[in-house]
Amino acid sequence: MARHVDPKCRLCRREGVKLYLKGYRCETAKCSIAKRRGVPGGRMSKRVRKLSSYGIHFREKQKLKRFYGVFEKQFRNYYYKAERKEGNTGENLLILLERRLDNVLCHFGYGHSRSHARQVINHGHITVNGKKVDIPSFLVKQGDVIKPANKENDINMIKMNVEANKDRKQPSWLERDELDGRVLQLPNRDEVSIDIQEQLVVELCSK
Ligand code: SF4
Repeated sequence: MARHVDPKCRLCRREGVKLYLKGYRCETAKCSIAKRRGVPGGRMSKRVRKLSSYGIHFREKQKLKRFYGVFEKQFRNYYYKAERKEGNTGENLLILLERRLDNVLCHFGYGHSRSHARQVINHGHITVNGKKVDIPSFLVKQGDVIKPANKENDINMIKMNVEANKDRKQPSWLERDELDGRVLQLPNRDEVSIDIQEQLVVELCSK
């Protein structure tokens, strides 16, 4: 399975925003975006880059891909799927990404970050509706119940992760009671966790 090997903070610095790729560490003063003295591209920034129209669209797409940890081919597939659905393509795209199991686990605090949640899933520590699921891109649906697998090790490991991430705010479409997670409903646009202009992404992908 392909994975990002670049230092995570470098990806955030490139996009000029916090992408929360290191879990709870991103909330501390160690975050290199928080340590920055100036707004990227602002007066305090060392490099002032003026982006072309294509550059603005491209950076927005990269930001979205990096936040959810998906690569170009997989991202295109999400786009085509979103396009085929009824309604606004941009919103459909964001909702599809938000429904990924690794993202849901990250909200529950079962993983420190989306990449850590992917590792937890890949190692077979998670069940959905009682069946083991080891595919991070699995799309959750309304009513799904997400729990650690039955082994004691799985439960202890998830417990430790949840404890470490206990301050994480749950979105209203998800509910966690101890280690039992439930999808109450599918997310809507306002509940998507990244600040993004999805229309720019759609304009780029539709060319
Ligand atoms: Fe990004 Fe987290 Fe690094 Fe901050 S600490 S730059 S949010 S990965």
